[in-house]
Amino acid sequence: MTHRTFRSVLTGSFSTPCADNPTVAMIEAGFRHAGIDARYINCDVKPEHLGEAVRGALAMEWAGFNCSLPHKVAVIEYLDDMAEAARIIGAVNCVSIRDGRLIGDNTDGKGFLASLQTVIHPAGTNVFLLGAGGAARAIAVELGLAGAAHITVVNVEKTQADIIAGLVRDNTKCDATAQLWAGEARIPDGTDIVINATSVGFGDAEAMAAVDVDTLKTGQIVADVIPNPPTTRFLREAKKRGCTPLEGLGMLVNQGVIGVELWLGKTLDATVMKRTLSDIFNTSDA
Ligand code: NDP
Repeated sequence: MTHRTFRSVLTGSFSTPCADNPTVAMIEAGFRHAGIDARYINCDVKPEHLGEAVRGALAMEWAGFNCSLPHKVAVIEYLDDMAEAARIIGAVNCVSIRDGRLIGDNTDGKGFLASLQTVIHPAGTNVFLLGAGGAARAIAVELGLAGAAHITVVNVEKTQADIIAGLVRDNTKCDATAQLWAGEARIPDGTDIVINATSVGFGDAEAMAAVDVDTLKTGQIVADVIPNPPTTRFLREAKKRGCTPLEGLGMLVNQGVIGVELWLGKTLDATVMKRTLSDIFNTSDA
């Protein structure tokens, strides 16, 4: 007689609002494809209930969970330990539960880095980073830890850029400076990688941050964090000028892959997960 088990491994996400977050579809497609009996449960958790949700995950022996807005900083008080990058960034979006201990990671920058490494290794590169929010912060820290030579952080609100540049300088061997974003940003000579880490372009294929795209140079890597639509106007303009475009959809998929590696020690099929998201976003970019 074959032995059947009726207990699935449990993972999931705590955020609010959560109804528009497609991560559950992407990760469960990966689980199904790999024949893994695991679930990813997308939970709407209000700020005042975060502690109960975390204790519930522990009580039910979940393998781990993602934390999205607004819990990425608040969750830290419930953790037993944090990975180095998450500690520097000061935000956690992925928690692993091992032997009853809660360990926090940040996969935003790691997901970006995994995409970037398909086209260039960041060691020794000069980076021009547009935006200074949570995504920019995580990307800057991971690029610094990966050995980038210099990062220019550009933001309309310059004090935010100053904070990220300082974090990178104080915690990595990478040099970093902040630049006020006034008018159209011009890409300096000697830049290897340009990254749009602003929210401009999300859900709008024609929107583009204020950049003088004629200062882009052939051969530069131009990346966008926007996953939907994957091919933003910024990336289309960069491609026209001979740059190598890198979509934010890959960053999102890699985050799912990295999260499941942390929780289950198994690597899901990124192609299956990307196709699932592309179908949801209604694009043909898989
Ligand atoms: P935040 O709100 O923390 O930061 C947004 C940043 O964009 C700020 O620096 C803000 O500048 C800047 N910004 C907004 N509008 C403009 C504008 N018109 N011109 C110039 N700068 C502008 O958001 P996050 O960092 O969390 O997320 C940013 C984007 O990244 C979102 O669209 C999100 O969907 C995407 N993302 C993608 C991920 C992926 O896996 N692909 C993962 C995480 C995020 P200011 O400080 O001056 O307001």
